[in-house]
Amino acid sequence: MAKLNPFEIVQKQVDKCAQILKLDPQVTAVLKSPMRELHLSLPVRMDDGTIKVFHGFRVQYNDARGPAKGGIRFHPDETIDTVRALSAWMTWKCAMVDLPLGGGKGGIICDPKTMSSGELERLSRIYMRNVFQFIGPERDVPAPDVYTTPQIMAWMMDEYSAMMGKSQFGVITGKPIPIGGSKGRGDATARGGMFTIREAAKALKLDLRKATFAVQGYGNAGYYAAKLAKEMFGAKVVAVCDSKGGKYNEKGIDPEEAFACKEKTGSVRNLKTGKAISNEEILELDVDVLIPAAIENVITEKNAGKIKAKIIAELANGPTIPEADDILYKKGIHVIPDFLCNAGGVTVSYFEMVQNFSLYPWEEAEVQERLDKKMTAAYNSVLKTSRDYKINMRQAAYVIAVKRVVEAMKLRGWV
Ligand code: GLU
Repeated sequence: MAKLNPFEIVQKQVDKCAQILKLDPQVTAVLKSPMRELHLSLPVRMDDGTIKVFHGFRVQYNDARGPAKGGIRFHPDETIDTVRALSAWMTWKCAMVDLPLGGGKGGIICDPKTMSSGELERLSRIYMRNVFQFIGPERDVPAPDVYTTPQIMAWMMDEYSAMMGKSQFGVITGKPIPIGGSKGRGDATARGGMFTIREAAKALKLDLRKATFAVQGYGNAGYYAAKLAKEMFGAKVVAVCDSKGGKYNEKGIDPEEAFACKEKTGSVRNLKTGKAISNEEILELDVDVLIPAAIENVITEKNAGKIKAKIIAELANGPTIPEADDILYKKGIHVIPDFLCNAGGVTVSYFEMVQNFSLYPWEEAEVQERLDKKMTAAYNSVLKTSRDYKINMRQAAYVIAVKRVVEAMKLRGWV
C-alpha cells in the first residue's frame, strides 16, 4: 500500500468542507497551506561522545484567531507533511472549542525509546534554542504530543527562560505542576474525550454502564481513556494494545494493572490474562466504543467495513482516512472526529496559559468543570450541524471550525 500522506488528507478534507460551505476558491487556497514553517538540523552530543544530527520542524499553520498552539512530537517516522497536517488539525481544533488560538505543530525525527534522559534533554534544549525566535507566549505555544512528556516541556521552558533572562512559563504548556503546569492537564485529552462520549451516548441512547470499550494505544491518551471509562461510566474495558500488541479479555481489563504492566515490561501485551491481539485486530472487535488513541491512518478503506463498534471516539490525531469515513457513515457508526474528541488537551493547555498569564493557579475541579462545558457545547454543536446539513460528524466539525477561521481572516483583512 502506498504510504498515505496526511497533508493530502487534510487538503481533501478542506476541499470537501469548501464545497459544503461554497467557499470562494481564493479563501480555500489560503486554508490549504501553512503560513510559516521552520526546518532545523540539530547536532546533539550523544552519550558515547559522537555527534548526531537530528532533523526537526515547527509549522505555524494559521494564526488568524490568535497565537499558534500545538504539540511537539518525537517520532522516528516524522515527516514535514505529517507536521503540516497536524498543524492544520490544531487550527480547526482550537477553533472547534472556540479558543482564542491558532494552530501549529512541531516534530523531531528521533526514536526516544532508544535515547538516554541526557540525550533527550540535550535534544530538547537545542530544539528550543533554534525555535526561540519563532515562538513565544504571544506567538506560538508548544505542548506535549506523541512521545514527549512534562519533563521535556520543563527543559524546553527552562531553555527559553534562560535565553530571555526571566521565567517564561507561558511559552509552553503541559509542564509539571510545580513549574506552572495546570492541575488536570495530565488526563485532559482523555477526560475531554469522555465528555464527548457521554454526550454521544445520550444521543444514541446507549447505556455506558453496560458498555464495552477497546482502546488502541496506551500512552497518555489511551491509558487515561481506559481508566476514565471505568471510573466515570463504570464501563468495561475489554481490550487494550500499544505499538507492540495487546490483550483482549471479555471479563474486563484493569486499566491500572495494564499501566503497571507497560511500565514494567514495556508493553501491555505482557498482561498475564486474556487473549493476545494485534493492534489491527483490536479495531475490529465487537465492542460498543472503540478508541483509537495512537497514531494516524489506522482506519482505512481496508478495515472500515469490518468495524463493529457503535461509537468511534478518535483520541488520536488523524486515525481515519477520508475513504473510510464514507464507509463508516454509511454503516451508521457514530464517529466523534479527532479535532473534536481530543480537543480536551489543548483546552486545558489554554487554561494553563491563562493561569500562567494571571499568576493564579486553579483548583482541579474548576479545570474539569470548565473543560466539561467546552467539550459538551462543542460536541452538541457538531451533532446539530451534522443533522441540519445531513453530513458526517467530521464534515460538521469542519464546517463549524473553518467558518470561524474564515471569519477571523476576513475581519483581519487577509481575504
Ligand atoms: N498535542 C495535543 C493535541 O494534539 C495538545 C496540544 C496543546 O496542548 O497545545 O491536541
